[in-house]
Amino acid sequence: MSERQLQLKALLEVSKMSRNKSNYGSSVTLEDWSGSFPWDSQADDTRFNVFGITSYRSNQREIINTVMSGKDVLVIMAAGGGKSLCYQLPAVLCNGIALVVSPLLSLIQDQVMGLAALGIPAYMLTSTTNKEVEKFIYRALDKGEGELKILYVTPEKISKSKRFMSKLEKCHHAGRLSLVAVDEAHCCSQWGHDFRPDYKNLGILKIQFPSVPMIALTATATSKVQMDLIEILHIPKCVKFVSTVNRPNLFYKVYEKSPVGKVVIDEIANFISESYPNNESGIVYCFSRRECEQVAKELCDRGISAEHYHADMDIIAREKIHMRWSQGKSQVIVGTVAFGMGINKPDVRFVIHHSLSKSMETYYQESGRAGRDGLSSECVLYYRPGDVPRQSSMVFYENCGLQNLYDIVRYCQSKRSCRRGAFFQHFGEALQDCNGMCDNCASSIELKEIDATNHTKIVVSVLRDLKLNDQRATLLQLVDKFKAKWKGLGYSNKDVDLKREEIEQLIVQLILDHVLKEEFQHTAAYSTNAYVTLGPLWKPALQGNRPVKLEIAVESSQDRGGGGRLSKGAKRSWMSDLEAKLDELRRELSSSSGNGGISIFPHAVLSSEQISLLSCQKPTTEAELEKVIGKVKTEKYGGRIIELMRSDVTDARAGNGADASKRNKKDKDVVFVESSSEE
Ligand SMILES: [Zn+2]
Repeated sequence: MSERQLQLKALLEVSKMSRNKSNYGSSVTLEDWSGSFPWDSQADDTRFNVFGITSYRSNQREIINTVMSGKDVLVIMAAGGGKSLCYQLPAVLCNGIALVVSPLLSLIQDQVMGLAALGIPAYMLTSTTNKEVEKFIYRALDKGEGELKILYVTPEKISKSKRFMSKLEKCHHAGRLSLVAVDEAHCCSQWGHDFRPDYKNLGILKIQFPSVPMIALTATATSKVQMDLIEILHIPKCVKFVSTVNRPNLFYKVYEKSPVGKVVIDEIANFISESYPNNESGIVYCFSRRECEQVAKELCDRGISAEHYHADMDIIAREKIHMRWSQGKSQVIVGTVAFGMGINKPDVRFVIHHSLSKSMETYYQESGRAGRDGLSSECVLYYRPGDVPRQSSMVFYENCGLQNLYDIVRYCQSKRSCRRGAFFQHFGEALQDCNGMCDNCASSIELKEIDATNHTKIVVSVLRDLKLNDQRATLLQLVDKFKAKWKGLGYSNKDVDLKREEIEQLIVQLILDHVLKEEFQHTAAYSTNAYVTLGPLWKPALQGNRPVKLEIAVESSQDRGGGGRLSKGAKRSWMSDLEAKLDELRRELSSSSGNGGISIFPHAVLSSEQISLLSCQKPTTEAELEKVIGKVKTEKYGGRIIELMRSDVTDARAGNGADASKRNKKDKDVVFVESSSEE
C-alpha cells in the first residue's frame, strides 16, 4: 500500500521532469502576403538578375512583401532558409539607405564582400573602417551624396556613437532611411543562448524612427525569447513568420563510437577522404580544447587538411583559420562549441560530432551549419554511452542541464525512431516526412530485441548492495561489478550474455527511464565525478515487474573501419569533373576579383547550386548563361565560365567514356538537388 504510494510519487516526479519546455508557436497566416504587389516584377528581376537566385525559398516572398508594405516583421528561419535576402532585396528595391545591425565583424565582412561582388553598394561602419570610408559613409547619411544602399553596423555603434546616431537622424529626417534590419535578433534576450548587452539598447531605433519598417531575424527562438525580443525592440505589432525547423537536405546519422580513440579518428578520416575527396568543406566538433587539438593533428597525420579552433587561441589566429577555411584553402575545422556564430559558409558538406552535444538545441544548431545552400549534406554524431558521464558532469549544475542532455542521449540511443522526428518533437512542431534522410529511416541494419529484465535486476541489486554499504560506482565500475555478479550467478545459459558496450547501453537506458539516476561529486582537482545510483523507479525494476527491452544491432560481417558501412543509405555528393573545374574557377576568380585588394569568398562568385545547374545545363553562350546565373554575374565572370563550358563540351565530344559515365551519375543527383531547393 505505502509501496504503491511511493511508486506513484516516483512516477509523478518523472512526469514532471520530462514535461516539454520549448514551444515554437505557430506561423502567422501567409495568404495576405503572398498575393500580387506593385513591386512584383521589379522584385523578380532584381532577385534573378542581381542576386542570381532562381526562385524564392519558403516564406521569403511573403516576408519581402511585408517589409515593402512598411510593416515591422519578426522572422524565425532555420539556417539555410535564406534570411539575408529578406532584407537585402527590399533594401535594393527601396529608395534610400538600409541599416543592418549584426553582432559579429566576420559576419558583416562576409555579407559586405558578397554584396559588393553583386555590384550592390554596401559598406560597414565598425572599429576597423578606415577614415576615408567613414567620411564617405557620413556624407552619404548626412547629405545623400555618393552611392550607399546597405550599411552594416555592430550594435555598439548604436549604443555608443553619438555622432553616428545624429547622422542617422539626419538621414531619416531627409526621408532616406529605408528600413532597419536586426540580424541574430535572439541576442537581445537574456533567455536566448547568445545574449549581448549592446543588443538591449537597440529599442532606441524604433523609438527614434517609428515610421521606418524594422525586420528582426533569427534562426531559433523559443516563444519566451520571441516575446522578449519583441518587447526589447519595441515592435509589438510586428508580423511574425516562423518557418519550420526541418532541413530536408540534411542526412542525420549516429555512429557507434569505438572506445579506442585511434579507431574513431581512422573512421572519421576515411569518411572524409572517401565521401569528400574534392576538398569539400566540413566541421568536426569536439568535447574539449585538448581533444580538438589532438583530433586536428591526427586528421592531418592521415592526410586531411584540418585545423583546430577553440576559445583559448587568440582572436587573430582564430580569424586566420576561419578565413582559410572559408576560402577553401583548408578542408576541415576541428572546433569546440566556440566555433559558432559567424560561420556563414553556405557549402559546408558535412558536420561530424566526435562527441555528444549537450542538448538537442545545441546539436540542431551545430549540425545545422551544414548545407545552408540547400544541397545535400551529412550530419554524423559518434556516440557511445561512455561519453554520457563526461557531458553530464559538465552540465548537471545548469538549469535543466541534465534534462536537456538526456534528450540528446535519447536521440543517440534510439535505433528505430526517425532522427528528424526527434527534432520536430523537441521544437514542438508537427511531424513531417523524413524521405529516408536519416539512418534509422534509410537503414537496413538488422535489429534484435533482447529481454533485459534479468540483466536490469542484477544492475539494480548491485547498486542496492553498494548503497547499503555506503558505496558508489561510476558507469565503468558498475559495468565491471555487473559482469562479476553475472558470472557468479551463472545466468548465461538462458539469458543473452551482453557485451561491455551493450551493458553500458542498458545502464544509460535505465537512467533515461528513471530506474537509475546520476549523482555528482566535486573532487579536489576541480573536476566532477559522475556516479550511477538508484533512481525513482528502481523497486519495480528489481522485482522484475516491468519488462525491459534492449535493442541491439545484429553484428554484420562488414568491416567497422569506415567506408563500407558508411556508403549505405547516404546521399553521396561526388563532384563531376566539370563541377570540380567550376569549383576551381570560382576559387581563382574570388581571389582576383576582390574589392580594393580584399579577396571575396568563392561562394560569392558562384554558389554550389549554380555550379550544379551549370554542369547540368551546360550553357555555352552569354544569353544561355544569363538564364542560369543572372545578368550581373554573367557580365562579371561570363567570359571565363563560357570558355570553360566550351572546352568541356569539346572534351566530351572527343569521347571521354569515363567522364561521360560520371556525368550521367551526377545528372541523377541534380534532380534530387532541384527538388530539395524548391521545397
Ligand atoms: Zn528519418
